[in-house]
Amino acid sequence: MIPPVLPTYARANVSFERGEGVRVFTPDGESYLDFGAGVAVTSCGHCHPHLVEALTEQARKIWHTSNLYQMPGQEKLAKRLIEASFADTVFFTNSGAEALECAIKMARKFHAANGHPERYRLVTFEGAFHGRTLATIAAGGQAKYLEGFGPKVEGFDQVPFGEEAALKQAIGPETAGILIEPVQGEGGIRAVPPQFLKMLRQLCDANGLLLIFDEVQCGIGRTGKLFAHEWAGVAPDIMAIAKGIGGGFPLGACLATEKAAAGMTAGTHGSTFGGNPLATAVGNAVLDVVLAPGFLEGVQQRALALKQKLAALKDQHPAIIDEVRGTGLMMGIRCKVPNTAFQAAALDQHLLVIGAGDNVVRLLPPLIVTDADIAEAVEKLDRAARALEAKPAA
Ligand code: PLP
Repeated sequence: MIPPVLPTYARANVSFERGEGVRVFTPDGESYLDFGAGVAVTSCGHCHPHLVEALTEQARKIWHTSNLYQMPGQEKLAKRLIEASFADTVFFTNSGAEALECAIKMARKFHAANGHPERYRLVTFEGAFHGRTLATIAAGGQAKYLEGFGPKVEGFDQVPFGEEAALKQAIGPETAGILIEPVQGEGGIRAVPPQFLKMLRQLCDANGLLLIFDEVQCGIGRTGKLFAHEWAGVAPDIMAIAKGIGGGFPLGACLATEKAAAGMTAGTHGSTFGGNPLATAVGNAVLDVVLAPGFLEGVQQRALALKQKLAALKDQHPAIIDEVRGTGLMMGIRCKVPNTAFQAAALDQHLLVIGAGDNVVRLLPPLIVTDADIAEAVEKLDRAARALEAKPAA
């Protein structure tokens, strides 16, 4: 019999009724260390007092008005995102996929408005993940997500990750832009080298293309800068964010330069809930935390401690860990055993981690994680690895 909730997820047999900081608690009061943060969502940890206050204060005022009226909370959040980024304008959404949909539509509209409606194709990269709508599964290009859902949405040309020659070959008279995650998340925590991002910028400028970054997972402080692309010193024309900006409240956004957004006039795009007062109240509170002086430097310091500890863990468990990779608080452990086995062994130790492509286990703790939390998590991973080593080979 089909379960009441459509069974599209292979869920672990555990639930949580309360969260506090880096910890979540089962109904029995058992505590788990959360190094998944709801897949990079609870950027400020669970129930951060400042976020709880912002949400409840807004809940007592007004929840929803629609985008038919002025939205002061949106305007404030948009101005702050603009102030802190390359962007001149922001469209708010409820999710990452919707932020990407806006980005894709904007790129197409840009060229159409400039007299080139034939330029609608985007080049994307193998291993990408951009969401689960029909357009974003086409952009991601992964067969397992496309299969059975009818014809793939037209207009996406995928090239191997990091291959400049294939990329240049894929660009033609119909190309509108290039879409890339500066750090692939679902693909297995693969950071795009800064020089490659720089090359993309030059390529776009030389060919009149729009550069689109998907920072849904790697943005909002995850790498120790507000946006991951800042490390490379290049800026996109359009960028999708979500996850961390809502801190657990559904919120996404598409940021763009004035030039790139020029075609998106009244009536061209919309969303009932996107950027509603509750969501933007929380988004503003997240920025209060993440943009506070010294916060991102703290993330960088703690990220370094995590990286060093994971490197030592790899040396201790050569039969379990193949490679440690990633940047900031977005780390991946490529496993020699099935990543699902390592993830399950970590769960046995009351540590939440998340699987990814390329047999990787992801560590994406809340950005407020402490050095002591990191030490505890690595101890749990050590115990998980030992448990796997003690198991007779299947
Ligand atoms: N883009 C990236 C890089 C993601 O990691 C995700 C979600 O994991 C998405 C887009 C889609 O976001 P959402 O699930 O909020 O639609």
